[in-house]
Amino acid sequence: ESNKVLVVGGAGYIGSHTCLELANKGFEPVVYDNLSNGHEEFVKWGVLEKGDIRDRKRLDEVLGRHKPRAILHFAAMIEVGESVKDPVSFYDNNVIGTLTLLSAALAAGVEAFVFSSTCATYGLPESVPIDEQHRQAPINPYGRTKWVCEQALKDYGQYKGLRSVILRYFNAAGADPEGRIGEWHEPETHAIPLAIDAALGRRQSFKIFGTDYDTRDGTCVRDYIHVLDLADAHVRAVEYLLSGGDSVELNLGTGTGTTVKELLTAISEVSGREFQVDLVDRREGDSTTLVANNDKARDILGWVPKYGLTDITRTAWNWHSRRNQGV
Ligand code: UDP
Repeated sequence: ESNKVLVVGGAGYIGSHTCLELANKGFEPVVYDNLSNGHEEFVKWGVLEKGDIRDRKRLDEVLGRHKPRAILHFAAMIEVGESVKDPVSFYDNNVIGTLTLLSAALAAGVEAFVFSSTCATYGLPESVPIDEQHRQAPINPYGRTKWVCEQALKDYGQYKGLRSVILRYFNAAGADPEGRIGEWHEPETHAIPLAIDAALGRRQSFKIFGTDYDTRDGTCVRDYIHVLDLADAHVRAVEYLLSGGDSVELNLGTGTGTTVKELLTAISEVSGREFQVDLVDRREGDSTTLVANNDKARDILGWVPKYGLTDITRTAWNWHSRRNQGV
């Protein structure tokens, strides 16, 4: 029997690292990606089937050809700021796209589905660390598109037999230690790549968005989770579903919070470089503290994050400093 899994959005940051991990564990990834944000050179484990998730005909063709045992769905637009400016594209890509993919999965008889969701579905937390019981109240169109997809998955699970694992990521970070793939967004808005660019002299300074938060040093606290720990959780989620596991939703974070200032210190240390830091106003929509309670993922998947902040900054530095030298 084939061990193929369809990795939708497998040319992107988290998808490509998951392909690496799937291949290591004996699965055969088949990447489905429209390359709108993904990178063809990231498809190193398994074949690329180019296609859009809103293209039902193409999906049927690829599902018919490969007959995957499970689908992992990473393909989505993710920038919060962009979602406020252009919500229509977000609903089109993230919601219509996911519903089209789900219909194709049901028609093809695929019963195991792993969905990339986000801690942004919780909105502004009432309590931290955040567990899966926390009320979900997203505060921007990006978070709402992910929330809508979660609801569809739950209904399709209950009434159509499609079993799923919903994975709510905290702050994905770091890269393949061998430097073959890494974080590559255009434009870049994430803290770690921007700080590394400042350390590399590729940008003039790093701007801290808000220093008057109610935290230990006034800057926001986030739970940075290594992308290979995320990848490991996805492989475990596939194995769980293939061995008959019920639908479940799980937080993926380390349970440890890091402030923006602590992050900058870690990046200065790993790079051996000082860089200019500007203190500016808060960015709209930022929560003060987002830290996961990850007990459920530990219980259900036996998943334990292996990497810490130093591994994250070291592998991210390694990737960014080698990529696009001189750019
Ligand atoms: N951040 C910052 N300056 C930047 C980018 C991000 O101070 O140029 C802060 C941001 O306010 C947040 C943290 O860094 O507290 C992580 O932001 P990122 O955009 O990486 O991820 P998010 O938590 O928004 O998903």
